[in-house]
Amino acid sequence: MDGSSLPEVRSTCAYCGVGCGVLLRADGAGGLTVRGDPDHPANFGRLCSKGSALGEVTGLSHRLMAPHVAGQVSSWDAALQHVADRFSDTIAKHGPDSVAFYVSGQLLTEDYYVANKLMKGFIGSANIDTNSRLCMASTVAGHKRAFGTDTVPGTYEDLDQADLVVLVGSNMAWCHPVLYQRVLEARKTRGTRIVVIDPRRTASCDQADMHLALEPGSDVALFNRLLARLAQDGQTDAGYLTHTVGFDDAVKAAQADDPAVTGLSPQEIEDFCNLWIGTERVVTVFSQGVNQSSSGSDKVNAILNCHLATGRIGRPGMGPFSVTGQPNAMGGREVGGLANMLACHLDIENAMHRQAVQQFWNAPTIPDKPGLKAVDMFRAVEEGQIKALWIIHTNPAVTMPDADRVSKAIKACPFTVVSDITAQTDTARLADVLLPATGWAEKDGTVTNSDRWISRQRAVLAAPGQARPDWDILAEVGRRMGWQSAFDYQDPAEIFTEYAALSSVANRFEKDFDISGLAGLDASSYADLAPVRWPVGKTRKPERFFRDGGFFHPDGKARLLPVTHRPPAARTEPKFPFRLNTGRVRDQWHTMTRSGLSPRLSAHLAEPFLEIHPEDARRHGLAAADLAEVRNPTGTAILRVRITDAVAPGQVFAPIHWTGETAPSARIDALVPSVTDPVSGQPESKASVVSVSRMKAAWYGFAISQDPIAPNVDYWAASRTDKGFRTELAGYSQVQDWEETARSWFGLAESAATVVADPARGTYRIALTVENRLKAALFVSREPVALMRDYLSTTIGNGPEQVLVGRAPADVEDAGPTLCACFGVGVKTILKAIEADQLDSVEAIGDALGAGTNCGSCRPEIADLLAVHGKVETPA
Ligand code: SF4
Repeated sequence: MDGSSLPEVRSTCAYCGVGCGVLLRADGAGGLTVRGDPDHPANFGRLCSKGSALGEVTGLSHRLMAPHVAGQVSSWDAALQHVADRFSDTIAKHGPDSVAFYVSGQLLTEDYYVANKLMKGFIGSANIDTNSRLCMASTVAGHKRAFGTDTVPGTYEDLDQADLVVLVGSNMAWCHPVLYQRVLEARKTRGTRIVVIDPRRTASCDQADMHLALEPGSDVALFNRLLARLAQDGQTDAGYLTHTVGFDDAVKAAQADDPAVTGLSPQEIEDFCNLWIGTERVVTVFSQGVNQSSSGSDKVNAILNCHLATGRIGRPGMGPFSVTGQPNAMGGREVGGLANMLACHLDIENAMHRQAVQQFWNAPTIPDKPGLKAVDMFRAVEEGQIKALWIIHTNPAVTMPDADRVSKAIKACPFTVVSDITAQTDTARLADVLLPATGWAEKDGTVTNSDRWISRQRAVLAAPGQARPDWDILAEVGRRMGWQSAFDYQDPAEIFTEYAALSSVANRFEKDFDISGLAGLDASSYADLAPVRWPVGKTRKPERFFRDGGFFHPDGKARLLPVTHRPPAARTEPKFPFRLNTGRVRDQWHTMTRSGLSPRLSAHLAEPFLEIHPEDARRHGLAAADLAEVRNPTGTAILRVRITDAVAPGQVFAPIHWTGETAPSARIDALVPSVTDPVSGQPESKASVVSVSRMKAAWYGFAISQDPIAPNVDYWAASRTDKGFRTELAGYSQVQDWEETARSWFGLAESAATVVADPARGTYRIALTVENRLKAALFVSREPVALMRDYLSTTIGNGPEQVLVGRAPADVEDAGPTLCACFGVGVKTILKAIEADQLDSVEAIGDALGAGTNCGSCRPEIADLLAVHGKVETPA
């Protein structure tokens, strides 16, 4: 069928927890077009650069098409029976706690529900944990301690109605761009002020009224000072405090804390307190900078304390608000994806809750204690206690702290199953059984976003090869393990309505999570389900939580907790003088298995990097575009240096996205020790200590190629281009024969080579052609190679002579690294417009070049270029 005649389908974005609605139209040839859904309450038609490029990541070249057992293609029947038998045998021999599932915030709620039911209700262990443990477990713990349940009291509308938005440990401009656009809109229309609390100056600081670059991990001390000031100034809400307990102890602890540990000046701290106290409508947004910490739960409670003490919660334009990382991290929290929870916010350690769930499922068993949280789970794998492991849509060999050790543990596990869309991940390569699962545009189910909207994700593309939905794979294994009727699901609607019915059972315990009003949906009303914000009970309708108290502790009161600053577990020392912060970049998502397929997204930041302050760079002999070795006792990495005062002296920053598939020496979690928050079990991912030194490379290289390469060299980092791939390279040892080496790396033994070499200077330019069409080219130098990388990447398929010049012809403009992914506008083009055309605002640049006028994700960076008037540092 012609694509234009196919209907547009409402669905949700595959990436972050903002949960934007999208309108998808299949093109009839395996691809699709995407636009923002103007009616979706999360985004009202907006999309960021990642969402806008969703249509570019549905290709099948990397997909896993059939089950594999022991490296051989298998039938589904044989693979599933093998999985069921190995899990049953392991349980029979070693007990239910000898097996584990490690799942993902990428799963749909229906997938999560079946996985949780299988593990907790039928296998009889709570050893199921999700990668959301790495993302927001501290928020869950903080909410439960304060509110009695994991309730997010804020809504996106609060961001529209706030007069002050405080971003704590959140680079919202890059990580939740559509929400950031809402904040900027509020700033324009009502003058909303923005404070950013972050050790690093991020894109979110560009529009901020105040940036508090506090010492890493000192957030508790800052919010304790705020609580102490609130008490001292008589600025608390006595009426609201009747809905709480613990105020006096919390204030006493706050007063005892020393705000000097934040490293901020007394004036900065008092200015922040004055602004917060003087503004009633305050939303405090927090994210990974708060959660990924050994004191993450305490940080969350320090923030909640201030909102509870002032009654700034549950009312329009105010409240604490955690924004979630993954598209269905929130759904996973609700459905029991964490090892310490049952479904519907019920508690695994509460006998009545357990009994209710067990009865509802008609389950033979239910565990009476929490299972292993992610870090402990992989430790148990390493120690041989877990003997059968099923990893679903996640890549722990890269993303877990102490990633090298985790990778070895998975490899040594007696039986590992991986369900994923691709076998090209560091984890999938370690599996005994690979199960092909459907991907985002092929899946049907629901997700919950950061502010409790449940939205349908709808399949618009056919499942490729033999791929099957995750709920279907899990249910089939459940049936083959002997629980036929409990897992006899025909479609996701059946699972969702069972889950909704379970929430009415949970409601007997007066919990917040209630979707019982959706229990009666038939298949067609489930198919048509419009976004709905819970609670949506039979009688309860969407409401604000906590406007008038009504917390979920047995006495109905919230808890203010006495919390005290604790520094990060690792301390800097002469051998490891730098504090390593980690995080995301604007246009990539997690380990890039999808976003890395888009040349447009890959063009923004094509290589892993290390941000380091100019003074530190000087002191350690690092120049722009050098490669740096980053080391600590846990692991090592090699990263491209970016010298910037966005990081403070003594601190460095590196992104999380690169893997063994894209840059094997830049797996940043190899440097993160497995230290966790004692309450939430969330790892401290942003506060390792490391040494940094210049890589003493014998040579540096840059390659373009039609096909991907994975050379056996000390450093390489690859990214996609419109015509193939570009790869940065470096090595410690001299190479004897560059022409032969190039043929071997590119797999082009039979190609013709054109070589321009100056062995005395160590420079080589080699073009490999087939039938006079360029297939690959390699540029080598003793220093970091200065080339027109973006132009060269366009020459694949041309004649060899164009590429060997190493730069664009005079009539071809070098646009520089892409800044606006939507319209492909490069840094140099924008700089030229600023200087030559005298453009002096983001709007003027948008009018002239289009940059920043679609998703708006690049607007902060355009503002940054304007601010420095062309003095921006770009890689060689
Ligand atoms: Fe997707 Fe961007 Fe919306 Fe997140 S903000 S859901 S990545 S479009």
